Amino acid sequence: MSFKSLGLSDSILKAVSNQGYTEPSPIQEKAIPLILERKDVLASAQTGTGKTAGFTLPILQILSRGQQLRHRPIRALVLTPTRELAAQVHDNVKSYSAFLDIKSTVIFGGVNQRPQVSTLRNGVDILVATPGRLLDLHNQRLLSLAKIEILVLDEADRMLDMGFKRDIDKIMALMPARRQNLLFSATFSREIKNLANSILHHPVLVEATPENTTVDAISQKVYRVAKGLKTGLIIKLISDGNWKQVLVFTRTKHGANRLCKKMISAGISAAAIHGNKSQGARTKALAGFKKGDVRVLVATDIAARGLDIPLLPHVINFELPNISEDYVHRIGRTGRAGASGEALSLVSADETSYLRDIEKLVGIKISSEIIEGFEPDPNASTEPIKKSQGGGRRNQSRNNKPSSSSDSGNSNKNTYRSNKSRRPKQNNDRRSNSRRN
Ligand code: AMP
Repeated sequence: MSFKSLGLSDSILKAVSNQGYTEPSPIQEKAIPLILERKDVLASAQTGTGKTAGFTLPILQILSRGQQLRHRPIRALVLTPTRELAAQVHDNVKSYSAFLDIKSTVIFGGVNQRPQVSTLRNGVDILVATPGRLLDLHNQRLLSLAKIEILVLDEADRMLDMGFKRDIDKIMALMPARRQNLLFSATFSREIKNLANSILHHPVLVEATPENTTVDAISQKVYRVAKGLKTGLIIKLISDGNWKQVLVFTRTKHGANRLCKKMISAGISAAAIHGNKSQGARTKALAGFKKGDVRVLVATDIAARGLDIPLLPHVINFELPNISEDYVHRIGRTGRAGASGEALSLVSADETSYLRDIEKLVGIKISSEIIEGFEPDPNASTEPIKKSQGGGRRNQSRNNKPSSSSDSGNSNKNTYRSNKSRRPKQNNDRRSNSRRN
C-alpha cells in the first residue's frame, strides 16, 4: 500500500516523502480513506502508531480542497490532553502542510497568551489546543469555534483521566453541531465509549492492530528489592550497565525530584520532568536527554505522555504505577521501531498487588530477580501503598507545564510502531478507583 493509493494530493505526498515515510502505517491505511469520505472515526491508537499523520493528512486534504477565505476562520480543531502533545502534533501539522496554503497554530497554558492571540488574529485553518487555554481565550472572545468543520480528540482516554470531561462538554457547545468528529484513544473504557456516543455520529471503528499485550521486542524484568534499597539498586544498575539514556518513572513529583537529586549526587547526570516544573525546565530537561547530555530522565506518567523520544534502550519503573495500563504506556517507550529494549521494574513488598494486576493485564508472568546486597525485606508488609501517596493524578495533570514546540519535533522519523499494538486489555475498575486517588 502506498500513500498515493490513499488518494492524497501531490503536495501532501511530497511532504510525506520529505519526512522519509515510504508507506502508511496500519492506522493511516485504515483511517485516511474513511476521514477523506467524511466519516466520523473512533480509532484505537496511541502515540507511536503514526496516528498524528493518520488524522492530519486527510484533514489537510479536505481543508485545502476549495478556495481559502480571505479571513480564515478556524476550520479544524485538534484537542490534546497535554501541552507537550499539543506542541508535537502542531510540529507534525506544520511539516505535513509545508507545501499547502494552510495555516496552523498551537495554543496551551503556562505561557504568555499574547503571541498565541496575535497568530490567531491573522487567521488559522487548523488549531491545536489544550482544553484550558482554548476555553480561556474563547471566554475572552479572542477566538471563535463557530466555523469548525472537523474536530479531533487526541488521546481522549488521557483527557478523561486528567479530568477534562467538563471542559470537553463546554467546548462541544461552542462548535456547530454539523461537523466531522475523530476520536483517538489508546484504551476503550466505559467512559470513553460514553464520550464517543455523545460526540460521534455513526462512527466507524478503526483499530491499528488487534487488542494485544506488550511488544515482543521489549524484554521485561522485575527486581524484588527492599523499598529503602531502591535508590542504591537503580544507581548500581545504571552505573554497572554504563547506560547512557534511561527513562525512569516514579509515581510522584516529589519522588521524581528526590531520585533525581540522589542520581546527581552519585555522579549520574539526571533531570526530572513533571507537572510542577516550569516550561523552561521541562524543555531543557527533554532537550538535554534527547541530545545525550542528560543520562537519566526521571518522569511521572502524565509528564511523559506524548513525548516523542526515539529508540530508548532502557526504561526503569522505580515504582510500579497503580494503574496497570500506565505500565504498558511506560514500557512502550522502549523497543520502538523494531529495536530491542529493556523494561525493568524495581518492586518492593507493598507493590505486590500492582505487579499481580500488571501481569494479568499483559498476560505474562514477568521474570523476577534478586540482586545480592539489594534483597527484599522479608518483614515488609505487602499492603499496597496508601492512596494519598499515589500522586494525585488529577491535580498533577492540571498543573502540567509545557515544553516548547522546538524540542518536541520530528526527531524520530520512521518510528511508528509497526508491529504490535500496546493497547492493553481493559481494566476499568482499577482505573476508576485510582482516578479517585
Ligand atoms: P505518532 O504516533 O503520530 O506520534 O507517530 C510516531 C512516529 O512515527 C513519529 O515520529 C512520526 O514521524 C513517525 N511516522 C508517522 N507515520 C509514519 C510512516 N508512515 N512511516 C514512518 N514513520 C512514520
